[in-house]
Amino acid sequence: MKKKIAIIGSGIAGLTAANLFKENSIFEVKVYEKEKTLSLEEGYGIQLAPNSTSILNKIGLSNIDNKDFFNPSKLNFYSSDNQKICDLDLSRFNSEKFKYTTLKRSVLIEFLKNKLFSNNLKLGKEIKKVSKIRDKLLINFKDNTNDLVDFIVVSDGVFSNTKSVIENKNIQPIYNGSIAIRTILKNLSEFNYDKNNISLVMLKNAHVVIYPINKTGELNVVCIIRQKLSNNIDLKTLIKKEISSQNKNLENLFENKLEYWPIYTSKKPSKSIYENLFYIGDAFYTFPPTMAQGASQSIEAANELFNLLSSDNKRNPDLFFKKRLERTKVINRRSKLNHHIFHFSNPILKTVRNKSLKIMLKNKIFLNNYIGKVYN
Ligand SMILES: Cc1cc2nc3c(=O)[nH]c(=O)nc-3n(C[C@H](O)[C@H](O)[C@H](O)COP(=O)(O)OP(=O)(O)OC[C@H]3O[C@@H](n4cnc5c(N)ncnc54)[C@H](O)[C@@H]3O)c2cc1C
Repeated sequence: MKKKIAIIGSGIAGLTAANLFKENSIFEVKVYEKEKTLSLEEGYGIQLAPNSTSILNKIGLSNIDNKDFFNPSKLNFYSSDNQKICDLDLSRFNSEKFKYTTLKRSVLIEFLKNKLFSNNLKLGKEIKKVSKIRDKLLINFKDNTNDLVDFIVVSDGVFSNTKSVIENKNIQPIYNGSIAIRTILKNLSEFNYDKNNISLVMLKNAHVVIYPINKTGELNVVCIIRQKLSNNIDLKTLIKKEISSQNKNLENLFENKLEYWPIYTSKKPSKSIYENLFYIGDAFYTFPPTMAQGASQSIEAANELFNLLSSDNKRNPDLFFKKRLERTKVINRRSKLNHHIFHFSNPILKTVRNKSLKIMLKNKIFLNNYIGKVYN
């Protein structure tokens, strides 16, 4: 008898998991997505380090149209006065087949969706209740349909309403004190950064990251600013006050349409009361974006779970949680430290940071421990 798997949420985590499970004939997989359509219009970019491109390659990432992704080889660091401090050689973490890759999130979602069969994906479905029936789980959906499955994989993102329903308590992420402002650039006449690589400009209480997302010249710009949560933020005024006032070169990057998101992170990693229910992606743990590992960790978690469930190990839930917890600690420590360091305002601290960065990014031991541990 096939093992039935229900995946809740069709973001990067859920769709990656579905693609992996679909390839093993012992599983029958269905993705249940709350929305009636998959949101493909979000034009913003995503960075995928080799730890996730190695997994996506198994499901054919290299078949994405060559013009729709980019392989930057460097991460350039700039100070607030627009001086280049140094760069991190990203290509040292690449292999022949797995490269640091940047692309639009919508391109990745479409690629993952197109690899599934239409009966793998059910739209407009939201969980009302989950109950245990012997060693299976019964899902009742809000539209009064149900499904009896062997495993549930919850991947419904940072706010994970499903988690609160299943664990029967209100579980909410916490606001991390910053917002992310995003825009896409094309054909900018005056551009003072490297069009073929990632540039990170460190400012007081903010940082800006710019990178190519395809070979047609589109660049993703994301700016993280410390900011009190409010319903009414005038983005152009905020950019002027907090960004352009510190570095005039950044002013013209924010002339197009801007969008913003408050950044939330998880209080702690999630483990279910049910031994055959697993959380992956942002529903398991949402990281601050300063290591650019949210999507990569979603992909890693999907792969780890697939390997464990395929091996039919009876200690699955414990093993999965233990491994994810260790990995989460490693990434989280670095993401939080980066967030702090990128936003220094004290001139002495900034000078020490810039000098240390120059030295450390040439040091093999540091590179292998701080970054290699994450990317490889
Ligand atoms: C500013 C910013 C920049 C980032 N940049 C990067 C980057 O460069 N690289 C990187 O690796 N990561 C990055 N991330 C993180 C990354 O985007 C996320 O970690 C990743 O997309 C999480 O994927 P997910 O599948 O877990 O969740 P999501 O992508 O949020 O998908 C969740 C899905 O579940 C659905 N859903 C929600 N509720 C329900 C429900 N009740 N029932 C059914 N379905 C439901 C949603 O509609 C959605 O389709 C960034 C994050 C931020 C905030």
